[in-house]
Amino acid sequence: MSVKPWRDVIRHLQWSDADAPTALALMTQWEAVADLQLNDTVNGVLAAVRSEGDVALVRFTEQFDRHRNALEIPAGEWAAARARIAPELEAALVAAGERVREYHQHQSAADWSYTDALGNSLGQRIRPLDRVGVYVPGGKAAYPSSVLMNVMPAKVAGVSEIIMVVPTPDGVVNDAVLAAADIAGVDRVFGIGGAQAVAALAFGTESVPAVDKIVGPGNAYVAAAKRAVFGRVGIDMIAGPSEILVVCDDSSNPEWVAMDLFSQAEHDEMAQSILVSLSPRMTTAVLDAMSRLLPSLERREIVEVSLRERAVIVDVASTEQACELINQVAPEHLELCVDDSTALMAGIRHAGAIFLGHRAPESLGDYCAGPNHVLPTSGTARFASPLGVYDFVKRSSVMQISAEGSQVLGQIASVLGRAEGLTAHARAAEMRLAHD
Ligand code: NAD
Repeated sequence: MSVKPWRDVIRHLQWSDADAPTALALMTQWEAVADLQLNDTVNGVLAAVRSEGDVALVRFTEQFDRHRNALEIPAGEWAAARARIAPELEAALVAAGERVREYHQHQSAADWSYTDALGNSLGQRIRPLDRVGVYVPGGKAAYPSSVLMNVMPAKVAGVSEIIMVVPTPDGVVNDAVLAAADIAGVDRVFGIGGAQAVAALAFGTESVPAVDKIVGPGNAYVAAAKRAVFGRVGIDMIAGPSEILVVCDDSSNPEWVAMDLFSQAEHDEMAQSILVSLSPRMTTAVLDAMSRLLPSLERREIVEVSLRERAVIVDVASTEQACELINQVAPEHLELCVDDSTALMAGIRHAGAIFLGHRAPESLGDYCAGPNHVLPTSGTARFASPLGVYDFVKRSSVMQISAEGSQVLGQIASVLGRAEGLTAHARAAEMRLAHD
């Protein structure tokens, strides 16, 4: 079988003054993949579920997922599913879950307070959210790993009740997903998906309790629905298509680099794989490895579309140029497949997850290393972080004012309150001045 060499297919540029803007545009074309028209569909679904509750939920589930099963999947079915899956799959889910739990335990933050010079006690109190909804995608594929990644940090945070939703296309429930729900310790599971599931979690229906926050990735319908209900409930982030940026040099293993680029591309056609090369010799070796390995891929068709449409290779002349480029892309996943990866990382300011050295493929982070695989996409690593325990808590500020404090602060508040024309504010402070 003749295979077209990938060097003729993938866009390949130099990070020179002339090419850099073009290269950057190719690597950050996020708006181009957003479908604004689906907002109308999503808004219709949200409004119907809000006003009709379960009736609309059942109707949309029949329309989009082609079944009329009971909305809730009882806990007995999770345990039965766990007993049905292969023992090595159950063991892998348990091992991954424990590693994810252990990693997130390091993120727990404590209350703090201090006493100022006036004897006032000032501090911050952290408490878990009451009820959280976890969206587990399931339209085209099943993601038991997403159950672990979304639920474990909520459990570590101490969330009282975790409601999981997962679409069950054609009424088929995925055993591994239910087993993961059992392992992770969710409280209730509903077999619903898409914008209707997000609406049910946000507004509540007769069957689905309203939650305080919705987390978890999903397709464009899910993303649009989460965006629309934000404000009524909290959300973790708006996930776009997934990306990886791999840096290679003469020390890299070209086949490992090629497979890491494929592992990103196989997610879906819109996934983006970027290679930043410090060595033209390695660029050629990676391209040759891609041509050699691609025919062996199970998801070859998806990989080919993703690579053809969205992959980019950029040759850079120095590590400084590599860092400049990476910081402009702010990739979701960043693999530094070079010997001195720690030194290279020192120049990186924006990346969702950083994989150091030759032995840290993204797939270990996706499944079991411990860090979360729900990461900021589409350049949002400039301001956002991986899903973590901090997403499942809220902070309250706390102040206790001493007698001396009420005198000194009362005078300041009185002046500021009157300056703003808020005289009740001023008088509330002044009344305390009279009492020592
Ligand atoms: P999904 O659960 O996100 O969406 C399925 C739902 O979409 C269906 O239940 C249906 O209600 C709705 N839908 C489908 N077509 C519709 C239409 N024409 N009109 C209205 N609603 C419609 O599952 P999916 O589609 O397989 O997408 C999963 C996504 O999640 C993928 O993009 C995948 O890459 C992503 N993902 C991301 C991560 C991560 O950590 N970032 C992990 C796993 C999956």
